[in-house]
Formats: sequence, structure tokens, C-alpha cells
Amino acid sequence: MGRPGRGLKEVGRVLNFSAGPAVLPEEVLRQAAEEMLDWHGSGMSVMEMSHRGPEFISIAEEAEADLRELLEVPTEYKVLFLQGGATLQFSMVPINLLGGKASADYVNTGEWSKKAIKEAKRFCRVNVVASSEDANFSYMPVQEEWQLDPAAAYVHVCANETIGGVELNWIPATGDVPLVADMSSHILSRPVAVARYGVIYAGAQKNIGPAGLAIVIVRDDLLGKAPANAPSMLDYKVHADAQSMSNTPPTYAVYIAGLVFKWLKRQGGVAGIEARNIEKAKLLYDFLDGSTFYRNPVRKSDRSRMNVPFTLADSKLDAAFLEGAKERGMVQLKGHRSVGGMRASIYNAMPLEGVRRLVDYLREFEAKRG
Ligand SMILES: *Cc1c(COP(=O)(O)O)cnc(C)c1O
Repeated sequence: MGRPGRGLKEVGRVLNFSAGPAVLPEEVLRQAAEEMLDWHGSGMSVMEMSHRGPEFISIAEEAEADLRELLEVPTEYKVLFLQGGATLQFSMVPINLLGGKASADYVNTGEWSKKAIKEAKRFCRVNVVASSEDANFSYMPVQEEWQLDPAAAYVHVCANETIGGVELNWIPATGDVPLVADMSSHILSRPVAVARYGVIYAGAQKNIGPAGLAIVIVRDDLLGKAPANAPSMLDYKVHADAQSMSNTPPTYAVYIAGLVFKWLKRQGGVAGIEARNIEKAKLLYDFLDGSTFYRNPVRKSDRSRMNVPFTLADSKLDAAFLEGAKERGMVQLKGHRSVGGMRASIYNAMPLEGVRRLVDYLREFEAKRG
């Protein structure tokens, strides 16, 4: 019998700038390790528990209550813990919201918008009401340019383009048409006025927990509109009626998400973490802007606080840059293949000290090779 958590203290952790699956708070991982063999005296791991038993029910209920508290979710919204990642929501949104209407409005601001649009086209006519493709997705089209259709079933936006590093930092006005937002890569990084949205969804592996889990926040009046022949696992109402336990939920992922929510509350909630995120993003962008060697392509007003793409003046130095970063314990800085260069994802769980070390390295590399 080993002591729970034995050996953890000797573990060397990297600074993980991955876009996702991404860094989690070390405190959370340590707690999960401590509780791995015996959760709260139950004599079992959370992974081994019945999802209908009182232990897991308490874990799931607390996770939902904490998320509701963190995001101030109004009572007339359901919070669902689903599977299939954010990508399944690209289908579930049209299946559940079309309600017999022929079309939906989509704003095209990058790779994730494009994927959502492609999937929606399997179910309805898609009006691309605004796009930044003309400038390689480097900005968020202003609302005045959106050609919204009042007859559309809903308006879909990707609120933070993880690949392009473009963030929607205002709330679109869509009249009576429900606003749907993919918040996968910035949920819980800033306060959100949930009441202005019909549906908010997010894959968990950026700011919440293990990949595979998806969170859906849906207004009650949008439930029950899926067609009669929709698979029941794809019907929001089925999940809402069953408290997300229509089948066996991803229990361990829900448990980790719950630990992350508790950690966030200890950070002062969403407002507390936002202040830190602003500080982290400012540190990095200010450095990039002050340098002639590095460059971020995104319009300043639309820059993401979570995902910061940047290029080096000479792409032939990319490999040496990444190698040097790795030697200093900083990994996953390579940019997405569609953008090139580098990308630093600095989610909630990335400490300020991690961004400081990155900036120190950027400065050092420029001095040596720039
Ligand atoms: C990561 C991501 C997705 C896809 O998430 P999966 O869990 O892999 O399906 C969708 N949208 C955005 C904005 C993302 O960042």
C-alpha cells in the first residue's frame, strides 16, 4: 500500500502552452491524485462509482451548482454535461434549434466557425452574415456589417477563435433570434451575460477539464424543438429531463471539471481570473508590439486573451525557437498549420509566472538571433 500521492512532489512539470487539451491547475491535479484510490472515504475511485449512487450524484450536483454560480446562470437555463466535445454541438445546435425553419445565420471568423458552418449545412441553409476571411481571419467583423435575417432560426458565432486568436469581446444584438456561441476556448475566462444568449456551448479541454466533455447552457424555451426522429442522445430535452444522466455520463471528466470550478472560486471567481488573464495577455502583447522581430497579425481590438499567435521575422528560425523553448521547459508553442509561426495559449490555469518566463525567453531569443 503506497501513500496516496506518493512521488508527486518530485514530478517536473513543463509550462504547457497547448491550445488544447491544455494546462490544468496543478492544485486540481494533485487533489485528483490524492483522491484517486479512495474518494472521501468511499473506498473507491470516482471512476469506479455508480453514476446513480449518492457519491457521484453529489459530485455532479456540486459541479453544476458551482458552474451556475461562477457564470451567474439564470434559473430559466439548463446546464448540460454532454459528450462528443464541442464538435458534436456543431450538429446538435441545428438539430435542436431549427424547429422547422429553413435557415440559420453564421458569422465566419476562422477555422472553428468554418467547421460549424460546414456541419450546419447538412441540416439547413446557412447564411454567412459576416466574414473576416478576406483578411485571413485577423479581425472580428463589426455588427454594422452583419446581414442578419430576422427569419433565421438562430445566429451562431465562435466567441473565441482558438486558431486565429480572435476574440469577440462584445455581445451581438440579434433581436428575437436566439444567439448561439461556441465559447470552447474562453468560457470562464471573463464574465458573460448568459441571459443574452440562447445557447452557450464549450468543449472542456481548454478551460474546464478533460477532453470529450462538453458543457451546454440552453434557455428553457429552446428545449423540445428537435424533430421526432432525432436520435435521443442528440436531443437537448432528453438530457435536460434526465439531469444529464440519460446514459452513463463521463463521470471522471465531470469530477475533474468540478474540481476546476472549485479552484476558480478560490481564484475570486470569473472576475478574479479575468483580472489575471488581462494582466497575462497585456504582458505578452505589449512585449510583441514593442518588438520588431515578433508580430501578432490580429486587429488590436479583437485580440484573444487566451490564444496568442505570433510569427518570427524569419520563419527559418522557427525550429531553433521551439528547440530553445523546450530546453527551458516550455512546450506546445508551435502555431497551427493553417496560420504558421507560433501560438501561446495562456488559459486560466497558465500562471502569470509562466507568461513572464515566456516573455523572458522571447526577449533572449530576439537578442541572440534577431
Ligand atoms: C477545441 C475547439 C472545438 C472542438 O472541440 P472538440 O472537443 O475537439 O470537439 C470547437 N470550437 C472551438 C472554438 C475550439 O477551441
